[in-house]
Amino acid sequence: MKRFGVHFVVIMAAFGLVAGALSFGARSSRGQSQTPKVESPVKPAVLITDRPTSATTTTSPFTDAASKNAVLRNELTWTFGGKQQRGWYLYDLLLNQTLDNNSSSDSVDFASAVSAWQTGKLLNSTGVLDEESLMAIVAQWQSNRLKDRTPATPTQLLTAPSLEFYDPDRLEELRQVERNTYAAYKRMLAAAIGDAALQLNHISKDELAPGEKYFKIISAFRSHEYQEKLRRESPNAGSAGLAVNSPHFTGRALDIYVGGDPVDTRDSNRAIQVNSPAYKWLVRNASRFGFRPYFYEPWHWEYVE
Ligand SMILES: [Zn+2]
Repeated sequence: MKRFGVHFVVIMAAFGLVAGALSFGARSSRGQSQTPKVESPVKPAVLITDRPTSATTTTSPFTDAASKNAVLRNELTWTFGGKQQRGWYLYDLLLNQTLDNNSSSDSVDFASAVSAWQTGKLLNSTGVLDEESLMAIVAQWQSNRLKDRTPATPTQLLTAPSLEFYDPDRLEELRQVERNTYAAYKRMLAAAIGDAALQLNHISKDELAPGEKYFKIISAFRSHEYQEKLRRESPNAGSAGLAVNSPHFTGRALDIYVGGDPVDTRDSNRAIQVNSPAYKWLVRNASRFGFRPYFYEPWHWEYVE
């Protein structure tokens, strides 16, 4: 019985060694086996070892693109609205959505999705999200925004209750919203409140509690005169910044609280916002209610129906 016990231990130890070697092989094979020919969605579980060692230096176009993307994500220099921008990491979520891909932006899968998108746009399909491709994606995002820029007439507007606003003391004249936009916002709010994962404090199925900040309206309708006043008060905002060419005068643009400093375009602030559960929820769900994002301002959503 004792001898059997010793044998058993030895056998189990041997199994352990073999299993360990196999899993090490499988681990070390990752990143080397991503040749363009691998098209099967089923990834091999066992390393095929009869390959010459020189194969380790061969990389697929997308492996190379993935490492370039990992750098460009943080360091690409580009210009938007007259302001120099650095990297595209703030737009990971929107990029995933546009590219119909859920991989991290430094992955081979992401580079492959970039390549497919580039092919569709007749761009050089390198899989690298360089300035040319980023600007093409930005142009696509911008083209999805509100096209009808007709100023709201007084009859199209209603005054929303102060409870709906991030600042409950906001003046009545600054609480106006276009009627259909407000109805769509309330439907969207009910869905957000109904999503238990968001844990929104609420007093009814479509009303947030006074102490809740997320999803409250920061700003809605703003007249041309009021926008001019904002612009005079913030002359250095740049054209990507405050109020310039903003469709708030249509009553169909809502600034919604998604975290951080409510409407601050500094990258450090937007990094907080784009990682908030509220923003992530909006990116996934707002289109169902007719809202489209303005990529540069995580809080700004436009009702386009
Ligand atoms: Zn806005």
